[in-house]
Amino acid sequence: MGEVSPDLQSRVVKFPGGGVLVAGIDEIFNWARSNSMWSLTFGLSCCAIEMMATAASHYDLDRFGILFRATPRQADVMIVAGWVSVKMAPFIRRLYDQMPEPKHVLAMGGCACAGGPYRDSETIVKGVGEIVPVDVFVYGCPPRPENLIHGLIKLQERIREESILGIKSREPITVGG
Ligand code: SF4
Repeated sequence: MGEVSPDLQSRVVKFPGGGVLVAGIDEIFNWARSNSMWSLTFGLSCCAIEMMATAASHYDLDRFGILFRATPRQADVMIVAGWVSVKMAPFIRRLYDQMPEPKHVLAMGGCACAGGPYRDSETIVKGVGEIVPVDVFVYGCPPRPENLIHGLIKLQERIREESILGIKSREPITVGG
């Protein structure tokens, strides 16, 4: 779990031996959610190697509280890394539907964002945005781990602006390219 933001820290009422945080429920939930994004493993092709490298020890996604899960029921972020075939598309949608709300999608790489070099192929979807709502597009072929981390930080910023009342922006963010 990440550190409490300076804004939240300023609202801790201290007393001997401890303290109480007085803040809105949205701020507390969003702080917790943005620092514990559990991602559904969805490596589809070459971009997945960069995603794995981002999670490994050198870049260490754990320090952001980002863990990979093998089940949609324990994930709130889907990172789609690589091209999406037409055959795979309905399964991506099914897994997305099985994830609990609130949930977010990050498209990693030119293929997942817009079809990439396979854009003219009739067997490749022209971007995963045609199947699920995408919050962050991370362009590149493949994007480096730094690009993916940039996209995940942008997603954290987005989550911190959401509300448990269901108010969230669906305007996608684009990184790289
Ligand atoms: S964007 Fe490039 S590296 Fe990523 S899946 Fe497509 S071809 Fe492979």
